[in-house]
Amino acid sequence: MRTKVAIIGAGPAGLLLGQLLHACGIDNIILERRDRGYVLARIRAGVLEQGTVDLLDRVGVAARLHREGLIHDGIELAFAGSRHRIDLKEATGKSVTIYGQTEVTRDLMDARDGCGLVTVYEADQVKPHDFDSDHPRVSYTRNGVGHEAECDFIAGCDGSHGISRASVKPSAIETFERIYPFGWLGILSETPPVSPELIYSNHARGFALCTMRSMRRSRYYVQCSLDDHIDQWPDGRFWDELKRRLDQEAADSLVTGPSIEKSIAPLRSFVAEPMRFGRMFLAGDAAHIVPPTGAKGLNLAASDVHYLAQALREYYDEKSSAGIDHYSEKALSRVWKAVRFSWWMTAMMHRFPDTEGFGARIQLAELNYLVNSKAAAASLSENYVGLPY
Ligand SMILES: Cc1cc2nc3c(=O)[nH]c(=O)nc-3n(C[C@H](O)[C@H](O)[C@H](O)COP(=O)(O)OP(=O)(O)OC[C@H]3O[C@@H](n4cnc5c(N)ncnc54)[C@H](O)[C@@H]3O)c2cc1C
Repeated sequence: MRTKVAIIGAGPAGLLLGQLLHACGIDNIILERRDRGYVLARIRAGVLEQGTVDLLDRVGVAARLHREGLIHDGIELAFAGSRHRIDLKEATGKSVTIYGQTEVTRDLMDARDGCGLVTVYEADQVKPHDFDSDHPRVSYTRNGVGHEAECDFIAGCDGSHGISRASVKPSAIETFERIYPFGWLGILSETPPVSPELIYSNHARGFALCTMRSMRRSRYYVQCSLDDHIDQWPDGRFWDELKRRLDQEAADSLVTGPSIEKSIAPLRSFVAEPMRFGRMFLAGDAAHIVPPTGAKGLNLAASDVHYLAQALREYYDEKSSAGIDHYSEKALSRVWKAVRFSWWMTAMMHRFPDTEGFGARIQLAELNYLVNSKAAAASLSENYVGLPY
């Protein structure tokens, strides 16, 4: 098989890159380890920046998003028993859109099928080769039969445990990591959201987040111990704990119901530098991870592939390598700002083992400052709706 760009991974980064390249006439294939149903069932992100929505619009896959997505002009911060609204729209002129990652993935998959582009699901033993040469290739097996795709470039969009980053020799890569001493226990339920906008709650018992996927489907999280297992969290215990961490009005109006998904996610910040290795590029979670507090992971995957598609278009249309030469630097500059914002939100909202006395007072002072200073609220808003590309 011969293609211009071999993309490893059919998550949001790989699928969106495929559509952006196709829109510029650059042929590509996607090799995905899992089956289609598995990829579609992963419940993850739900908050899209305006820039991400614009990219989906640009490749013509946002019709359903505009019909079903919820536009949010603000978020609420809850602390010390009351809630305060941050008006994102007033501060920045921009909003965010609530639309599940599962739906983004489905729309991109449908669009890819509609264009007749090749996606190989259940590709085993995928391996990038010779990306330091002018003739890179990717090998894989399917149903026990070996295959090879020759290409000009490889895009490693295979998430944090993928093969692309793992194929780079350790001396060529530098990594930066912060592990947080807690996780998020999340549930999805067929219940109306407790409030029309997201509630981020700082509480002595730990952080809580009330978010949603639609006006009928809610997503709630509570900070939990890394040692916890979901078996220890029957639905009743989860709802009781969530109520304790909300203000009285929210706790009283919370509609509970059986969970339809429940999982625990550990939190970490991670960045690998650089994001280019000869003719292989990393994009999305393959290169960086952020704690979900800032709602940035999927959005960073989108901005990475925007830069990458632009660079590859320049390479093919203008015979210029400037874009690919600067891809890593350009992407990392935006990545680090989102890593900072996600780390800062995480630090402000969660109980750490040492958040007692002094630490708790500092968090409250910071939250009070945020809700009483237009400048501070504008800074949060600017980052939350997404920094410009
Ligand atoms: C609980 C939770 C909540 C989140 N909330 C938000 C949020 O609100 N907002 C936000 O922006 N982000 C959020 N995120 C992060 C977001 O989900 C990720 O950043 C996003 O999925 C990254 O997309 P990606 O395509 O880079 O990677 P992935 O979605 O991980 O996709 C990588 C793909 O590569 C495939 N793959 C892996 N290894 C191989 C291999 N060897 N060969 C072939 N294929 C392979 C995988 O099967 C997968 O399909 C959240 C994440 C979690 C866990």
